[in-house]
Amino acid sequence: AKEEKKGTYRFYSSQYYEKIRSRLRLEQALALAIRNDEFVMHYQPRIATRTNKLAGMEALVRWAHPEQGFIPPNEFIPLAERTGLILPLGDLVISKVCAQLALWQREGGTVFPVSINVSARQFSEGRVSSHLASCLARYQVSSHLIEVELTESAMMGDLKTVQREIDALNQLGVKIHVDDFGTGYSSLSLLNQLKLDVLKIDRAFTAQLGSGREGEIFFRAIVSMAKALGMQVVAEGVETKEQLALLQTLDCDEIQGYLISAPLQAERMSALFRQDIFV
Ligand code: C2E
Ligand code: CA
Ligand code: CA
Ligand code: CA
Repeated sequence: AKEEKKGTYRFYSSQYYEKIRSRLRLEQALALAIRNDEFVMHYQPRIATRTNKLAGMEALVRWAHPEQGFIPPNEFIPLAERTGLILPLGDLVISKVCAQLALWQREGGTVFPVSINVSARQFSEGRVSSHLASCLARYQVSSHLIEVELTESAMMGDLKTVQREIDALNQLGVKIHVDDFGTGYSSLSLLNQLKLDVLKIDRAFTAQLGSGREGEIFFRAIVSMAKALGMQVVAEGVETKEQLALLQTLDCDEIQGYLISAPLQAERMSALFRQDIFV
């Protein structure tokens, strides 16, 4: 029995080290990928609910791994946040979006605003506004084409620091979206105090629409609160026409989700700039 126990222990322990080793490998690979820029931005359209016209898009990063193909952000953003690699990666994402906007501007025609996801750590270092300002200048991109998405938990850091960074972004003319709204704990007074522009309601709540009154009641309350605060409302994760129809009656300003389109590479996204009506 003693032998067996020892063997079991060794088994778990080597598994444990294997886990650490593979995490270290991933961390090294990620650091290298940032240096070599192995990332490709995808863009998911946002549609105005009243007109069915394009309103903007969200930039979503993918790691174009030389062997594994596209790796989704959920598999490396948490690691990047833990290790601090989110700082250089976040800068890279901002640069890439500004470079893309400059390209689209040069092609002529209407260009639509792009929202960029930003992690708490980037925000608390006051790094977003300064890097964004320098990229906007370098690429000659107008600041109304950039928006920043911040989760409720990212807003819950040191209030002074957060307020300073939001002020700096407002000064630049960059709008701020509260991402995944409803999943965190931000208060009405905080939303009001921080002067935020858009509430993006998490897709967990959109998914409840159409399966009873409760989902509708939640949305109705959020929309009226947002309107009272002078904010716009976007519903995330809209997948069905029924959800869209309900959101139209609920006065939700914009929608985003697979019903309209999955995230697309830049060339396919810009084809939508010329499309008149969606859905
Ligand atoms: P998120 O900001 O909530 O982004 C929306 C996610 O939902 C995206 O996943 C998108 O592809 C997916 N989605 C969109 N429409 C639908 C739908 O109708 N149904 C369903 N089931 N899903 C939908 P993605 O691209 O895998 O991104 C996952 C998360 O990774 C993002 O969640 C965001 O938190 C993070 N992320 C992505 N890009 C960046 C980035 O550049 N920087 C940072 N810090 N985080 C990022
Ligand atoms: Ca987002
Ligand atoms: Ca979201
Ligand atoms: Ca989310």
